[in-house]
Amino acid sequence: MKNIYDLTLDELKLWMKENKESEFRSKQVIEWLYKDIKNFDDMKNLPKALKEKLNSNFTMELPKVEHEYTSRLDGTKKLLLALQDGNLIECVIMKYNHGNSICVSTQVGCRMGCKFCASTIDGRVRDLTAGEILLQVIVGQKVLGERISNIVLMGSGEPFDNYDNVIKFLKIVNADYGLNIGQRHITLSTCGIVPKIIDFADEDMQITLAISLHSTTDDRRKEIMPIANKYSIKEILDACKYYIDKTGRRVSFEYSLVKEVNDSLEDAKSLGKLLKGILCHVNLIPINEIKENSYKKTDSEEVKIFAKILKEYGVETTVRREMGSDINAACGQLRRSYMETQK
Ligand code: SF4
Repeated sequence: MKNIYDLTLDELKLWMKENKESEFRSKQVIEWLYKDIKNFDDMKNLPKALKEKLNSNFTMELPKVEHEYTSRLDGTKKLLLALQDGNLIECVIMKYNHGNSICVSTQVGCRMGCKFCASTIDGRVRDLTAGEILLQVIVGQKVLGERISNIVLMGSGEPFDNYDNVIKFLKIVNADYGLNIGQRHITLSTCGIVPKIIDFADEDMQITLAISLHSTTDDRRKEIMPIANKYSIKEILDACKYYIDKTGRRVSFEYSLVKEVNDSLEDAKSLGKLLKGILCHVNLIPINEIKENSYKKTDSEEVKIFAKILKEYGVETTVRREMGSDINAACGQLRRSYMETQK
């Protein structure tokens, strides 16, 4: 049965019309979805007949929190959620001084094949619906007991491989009838699907675009990211420039530092040369070491030197703070290890 959280206000209006109900009821229903109620019968201002129709057409079930891990170091929470069909996804809630942030998944698994990522090991199982992405934020707020004000689409899945559902999610989460989270408080991360970057630029939104770059040459990128066989770094950068022109937004480049793979002084210099003059920001990410591969984390002193070189090229750079290191489970790893224990 369809989950009502999958509907936009316009879709619900249409449903009301088709079901001979007044249009204003749709706003009432949507408002209830963001209050602490469990089922349609709790929607006090609706007539009984409408509640019955809703009950027989929709569910408003939330994903079940299968496991919750909380970092004793910084309060970061990782949630393993079971969807209606039993598939498992994960999301991470981070507490910052400027507010709570959630990293959501957009697919069950992923088919992009990035070598450093546990989400892709078993491939893509299925896309998440807009409602399933949204419900991660809603459940996150319930677990936390506080508002979440920032969202990053950087969990399992490639958002642009599930484009329509992701766009719908962004519209609902931003709407004043939804969670009303500002577009500028949302970051979408892609491995670099060029035509979708162009489409996204044309959506007329103000989302921060983040590109998983991780390499400064196409050959090296191909070794760790199969998508590089399809789109070159030059094509990605051209698409990013188009995004910047259309939106006026600064683009973020994610660069995971892997010891003795892409963390040399030469790498820092070529990254600086590549991005010099582009309205951008680099996020240096010391990798999470996972048991599925042998990649090692760059030493913190070397990370600082790498960042310093980028700054010398005028490229704004931050080193991503490690969050929840004591509940260490890189993206996709929690789901995998849980599934292994169930076998
Ligand atoms: S890093 Fe992102 S795009 Fe690459 S395999 Fe993992 S989830 Fe997919």
